[in-house]
Amino acid sequence: MGEAGVEGVEVTRFAPSPTGYLHLGHVYSARVARDAAREGGGRFLLRMEDIDPGRCRPEFEEAIYEDLGWLGFEWEEPVRRQSEHMDDYGEALARLEGMGLLYPCFCTRREIAEEIARAGAAPHGPEGPLYPGICRGMSVGEREERMGRGEEYAMRLDVGRAMEVAGDLEWVDLERGVIRARPELLGDVVLARKDVGTSYHLAVTVDDAIQGVGLVTRGEDLLEATHVHRLLIALLELPVPEWRHHRLLTGADGKRYAKRDGGVTVRGMRERGMGVEEVWGQLP
Ligand code: GLU
Repeated sequence: MGEAGVEGVEVTRFAPSPTGYLHLGHVYSARVARDAAREGGGRFLLRMEDIDPGRCRPEFEEAIYEDLGWLGFEWEEPVRRQSEHMDDYGEALARLEGMGLLYPCFCTRREIAEEIARAGAAPHGPEGPLYPGICRGMSVGEREERMGRGEEYAMRLDVGRAMEVAGDLEWVDLERGVIRARPELLGDVVLARKDVGTSYHLAVTVDDAIQGVGLVTRGEDLLEATHVHRLLIALLELPVPEWRHHRLLTGADGKRYAKRDGGVTVRGMRERGMGVEEVWGQLP
């Protein structure tokens, strides 16, 4: 028997990005997903979130498999690598575009920062000021002209319009209860980056649906992202999972673990001669 609410969980997943070595926070997160699958009699998947060619490296991906294996994790093969499924994200993007919910954004970071400074005050999200909508109202003529000139552009979600189409939405967090979706918290998010035909929000939503993930577990730093994902799920008519956002572990200094902290990476601990049990012993 599992914990209340977890019975019948089919599939959970741990979805790291191979941009560094796993640290204790990742191990904790992977354990939350694995244990939920075990308790619900379900399956535990590992997924490589490797859409960012500038930051992902094969040696980190290799290290993730090695370190998780060393710690005794078992997952199903084949591992889904996002970089191999760009067509799936392209299809979802085209569907949203066909619904008139996307717009091309030609802005550079600098232009966005300048516009925010000019406006004096801008609504803030968890990651700073929201995109101030510069390209949202651009005429079709200007869009076509700039695209024709070969200017690079991202595709953004017109969140206001998307919320009108989707109507009121709710989602369930197993620790927090029923939550009213507020996708506007992140503003007009990027769904396809200039350099990559997708983004975290789109890829994770599409993948969780394709992989049949019934319980999405991840750190509470991604709580706001879930509001956006719930909206995308509604727009794309995908099955709605449940979520569990777990606490983030902190080190002795009270700060969140980060990939750059060599001391708390699984790799670093192994190299210092720590055993598997000792590493597990570091977790709450
Ligand atoms: N790839 C994300 C990360 O490493 C996690 C995504 C998720 O669990 O939804 O932070």
